[in-house]
Amino acid sequence: MARYHEPVCRLCRREGMKLFLKGERCFKEKCAVERRSYAPGQHGKRRNKMQPYGLQLREKQKVRRVYGVLERQFRRYFAEANRQKGVTGENLLRLLETRLDNVVYSLGFASSRSQARQLVRHGHVTVDGRRVNLPSFRVKPGMEVALKEDVRTNAFVVEALETAQGRGVPPWLELDSANFRGKVVALPTREDIRLPIQEQLIVELYSR
Ligand code: SF4
Repeated sequence: MARYHEPVCRLCRREGMKLFLKGERCFKEKCAVERRSYAPGQHGKRRNKMQPYGLQLREKQKVRRVYGVLERQFRRYFAEANRQKGVTGENLLRLLETRLDNVVYSLGFASSRSQARQLVRHGHVTVDGRRVNLPSFRVKPGMEVALKEDVRTNAFVVEALETAQGRGVPPWLELDSANFRGKVVALPTREDIRLPIQEQLIVELYSR
């Protein structure tokens, strides 16, 4: 499956909620969910009662879209989460949260996960002092994530960091904004993941 190249606001409208895929714009009146709070397409305004399968599918699609992960990758994450000890749904969210692109976004170095992915892909991010250009790289407690100097004055980065100060950094990360650095202090717990996700529905979907 190819990466999604259509307008991402349609994805939010499809899920009926803000997925915060466009950075600053998501907090403004221009947000498509604020202006047209129904699904896109000719029949978008029809409200059909969803069956359990539909609910499970929508939940999976929502999470996949929030983290920008393709179906095949997502299935791999689920298989790994299933193999790990503990609650599968929580394991799955932890695997997604600890992706390097998500950490760069959560630290406030980018205004969206897709912008964070671009920073990583273009080699502007280091982990423990070494350049890592793999957005799916999994961070571990004790690791230090930093932005390379050449991009620290970039207007997008400066603006994103300013905006993120108000949003706050999740408790499992520690930000040193003056030095464009962040540290992973622990693995995220379910309470640390503030997104409105019902991960149990995803587990049910893949357990069919
Ligand atoms: Fe979603 Fe952001 Fe577009 Fe609003 S502006 S619909 S939250 S991507």
